[in-house]
Amino acid sequence: MEADSILTVMTKRRGRIGAIAKGVRKQNSRLRGGVQVFTHNDMLLYQGRSLDIVTQSECIEAFGELHEDMVAMTAAGYWSELVEALVPEGEQDLSLFQLVLAGFHLLCLAANATVVRGLEIKLLSQLGYSPVLDRCVSCGRALSQGFEPAFSTNLGGVVCSSCIGAPGSYEIKRFSHEGIRVWQQLIKMDLSKIRRLKVTGEALAVLEEILEAFITVQVGRSLKSKPVLKSMQL
Ligand SMILES: [Zn+2]
Repeated sequence: MEADSILTVMTKRRGRIGAIAKGVRKQNSRLRGGVQVFTHNDMLLYQGRSLDIVTQSECIEAFGELHEDMVAMTAAGYWSELVEALVPEGEQDLSLFQLVLAGFHLLCLAANATVVRGLEIKLLSQLGYSPVLDRCVSCGRALSQGFEPAFSTNLGGVVCSSCIGAPGSYEIKRFSHEGIRVWQQLIKMDLSKIRRLKVTGEALAVLEEILEAFITVQVGRSLKSKPVLKSMQL
């Protein structure tokens, strides 16, 4: 039905699910206020054959900042697409639910490049997609400070100077020691502290490029909202 909307919902009990909000586009729909994008809701769902059906929905938190600011809205759209692309459907995981929700809180406070990189890194790490950062992913040698490190998106980690030129067509990107350090810090850092982390523009640029390539490999395609987010120049 044209008046229906298919929603992607992160739930506490059943992880990421698809749900249908019937008739929600009609002017007089009771559900209308309760199924907006980027909102935290109390929902009553009826388990249907393929999709759940939203029978009631009440907004707990609307994240007004995300709807009023173009940059914040774009970042929230990207965060939603990233979660939808990486989080498997129907797997209960309370810590993932909390991370997704905390991501919206954080973007309300500061939709900047450090926060977006932090959210990407936290999500990848929680889902077990952390690359090898403390040694060469190809030969296992410890990284020395003496050379500029590189990153192989298809091997999933840092590569040392001897392996950069090794046979085999690895997709290599320039990395930096600061970039590696920031990635490691962000994995461990409390989410509430991320927006205060001091990172140079150079390290943020390197991390953005590597994360984009790494996420594209994990997801198997590029994310639609990424070019839009890039155009906002966070
Ligand atoms: Zn190596």
